[in-house]
Amino acid sequence: MKTIEAGTLWTSTVERLRAEIGDENTELWLKPVDALTLEDGVLTLKVPNKFFSDGIKERYQKRLISLLRDEAGYEIGLDFRVERDLTRVLPPSDPVPVASPQSDFPLSELNPRYTFDSFVIGESNRLARATAESISKSPGTQYNPYVIYGDVGLGKTHLMHAIGNSVRRHHPRARVLYTTSEHFVNEFITAVQNNQIEAFRARYRSLDCLLIDDIQFLIAKDRSEQEFFHTFNALFDSRKQIVVSSDRSPKEMSPLEKRLVSRLEWGFVADIKPPDLETRIAILRKKAAHEDYVVPDDIILFIASSVKSNVRALEGCLTRLKAFQAMTGEQLSIDHARDILKESMELDDSSPVRVETIQRVVALKYSVDVKDLKGHQRTVSISTPRQVAMYLSCVMTELSSTDIGRAFGGKDHSTVLHARKKIEKMVAADPFFLEIINKLQSDIKAAER
Ligand code: ADP
Ligand code: MG
Repeated sequence: MKTIEAGTLWTSTVERLRAEIGDENTELWLKPVDALTLEDGVLTLKVPNKFFSDGIKERYQKRLISLLRDEAGYEIGLDFRVERDLTRVLPPSDPVPVASPQSDFPLSELNPRYTFDSFVIGESNRLARATAESISKSPGTQYNPYVIYGDVGLGKTHLMHAIGNSVRRHHPRARVLYTTSEHFVNEFITAVQNNQIEAFRARYRSLDCLLIDDIQFLIAKDRSEQEFFHTFNALFDSRKQIVVSSDRSPKEMSPLEKRLVSRLEWGFVADIKPPDLETRIAILRKKAAHEDYVVPDDIILFIASSVKSNVRALEGCLTRLKAFQAMTGEQLSIDHARDILKESMELDDSSPVRVETIQRVVALKYSVDVKDLKGHQRTVSISTPRQVAMYLSCVMTELSSTDIGRAFGGKDHSTVLHARKKIEKMVAADPFFLEIINKLQSDIKAAER
């Protein structure tokens, strides 16, 4: 029997496996693994988290055991040990003066109001919140990367700040950065333009915890996406915590690069759904109490049962009432509240709007004349707003494509359908364009009031 050392045995076995599974899989799965000991025919491996041990067992265990036998000349068993010990990365007990260690590092502001305490738990967000809290206690260990997804206004940003705030509290020296993917893209572009790409990389790669909000804005931003992918890998390889949020699940992130999507999927994915009635009531009560604003139960119930799909809109109602009450100095009755909130609630629903309003708002936005929208000029500067207006008429009115064509200077319904398809494609491919369309929609609704 040869005497052989754990590290040597592991390295040579990994190199042989590399020939079979390729560089990428090797870097992904085996590079983050260290060999600890070889005792009594058992090789103990240290893995960063359970995803690795599970993933390696599922994919490569059989083959590894056979290669190890080959290398060592005798039967070798595998044992995995998850390294949860973060002390190397984030020394928590080390008393540190608050300002000094971070002062050379421009870190993002975290909203101090967005904490776990101020986040109301309900069925719709229980898992997402519990995972977030457990991450904040021991970042970089179990749930990495962590993906939170859900519709707008349901608390994704709140949870990300809560993680950041809590990590800073538990690990005062940890370098935590919260940023949006839009900001990431802009920073990257600026760095490229100013030849500061190395500094950009160094900054991101020195983090202990990176929180990237609204990752859907990276979609179709090729170079920034690549850069994020590399940042992601660098952080992940050094077992730093990554949290991303998105308005859709990783599966729906196409055309985000496959490699990035699959990496997001290995981690932990939790969604947030619209809150149920009890949770909506609890959110309103908590918010009112926080602001020392006394709201009668019937008004709370009225708001909670009228605004269903967006916590921000829910809070908006309370803010409006409060402002109104401060102005008049009277305690509001339910009827009065209903009147005050009518407008904002109508905005929340999808009551149809008029084609004329759509044309007017779109024309204004693109600095063209309404009569151009109804005309036949084909230059892009006019045909694009025309198609946008037709598209919005399809989704925001109840008119048929024939009627819409008529409202655009007597065009054929197939022209309308063509415009609709084209804009739908552009929206799907470009989140910035989607933002423009969303903004137009809310402007149109506002103009319709
Ligand atoms: P998203 O990022 O998903 O669009 P935000 O995190 O910005 O949503 O949430 C919108 C608003 O609703 C914020 O003011 C947030 O504090 C509040 N909010 C959302 N969910 C909850 C909750 N469960 N408890 C308390 N406040 C919440
Ligand atoms: Mg958000």
